[in-house]
Amino acid sequence: MRIGAHLREDANPVATAEELGIDIYQMFVTDPQSWKKPESHPHADEIRNSPIDVVVHSSYQINVASLNNRLRMPSRKAVEQQAAAAAELGAIGLVVHGGHLRDGEDSAKGFENWAKLFERQADKGGFGVPILIENTAGGDHAMARTLESIERLWDAVGHFDGVGFCLDTCHAWAGGEDLVGLVERVRGITGRIDLIHLNNSRDEFDSGRDRHANLASGHIDPDVLVEVVRSAQSPVVLETPAEGVADDLAYLREVLPE
Ligand SMILES: [Zn+2]
Repeated sequence: MRIGAHLREDANPVATAEELGIDIYQMFVTDPQSWKKPESHPHADEIRNSPIDVVVHSSYQINVASLNNRLRMPSRKAVEQQAAAAAELGAIGLVVHGGHLRDGEDSAKGFENWAKLFERQADKGGFGVPILIENTAGGDHAMARTLESIERLWDAVGHFDGVGFCLDTCHAWAGGEDLVGLVERVRGITGRIDLIHLNNSRDEFDSGRDRHANLASGHIDPDVLVEVVRSAQSPVVLETPAEGVADDLAYLREVLPE
């Protein structure tokens, strides 16, 4: 089982990952708050050739579902650019949040926009890496908060090549999905879980709030988190507060079989 973390320090990610003794790490390829086009990473060769896996998280403002052209168009372009940068690094995928619509908008159009993202890119030969769509915690008009919305999303995109799923445990909990048996229920819809974002939650069940906690210190029973990892058998990335990551890793190494 491959276990790792999102790296805050990604100037030389392979060296940082080696220090942490992890099998996989997640990084950004551009400032996650910006639309800036990624530049080539100075350690790209090393990242690509390292036996440590890398996954790229896309920037936060991306919303490919949006009905607003001025948000959807740059979002599509950013996904294309960040996927290309991820491919250059030999990443196992690019994580993209499900996105959301605004009050009164027709959710069917949001799911259609997701389909269009893959349709258009298929004409250009695809993205170069799988796009791992991540469930999100909040909002009443999210594309991937509840199982019901994930099912509608998958009806729209599930048949395309290069579509994957990233399950975030904090988001599922705060989004109001029971974590017990969730892996099986998600797989029943998507047929796959490519990545687990393993995070505890600082907030109550169904709070709609997205605040990650270290594994032993949130509202989710750590045993339940471990059971998600066991049943998914997918690579695991921690996105927990930096000061507790070493403890989180030590805990997982202790409770999980080699
Ligand atoms: Zn996440």
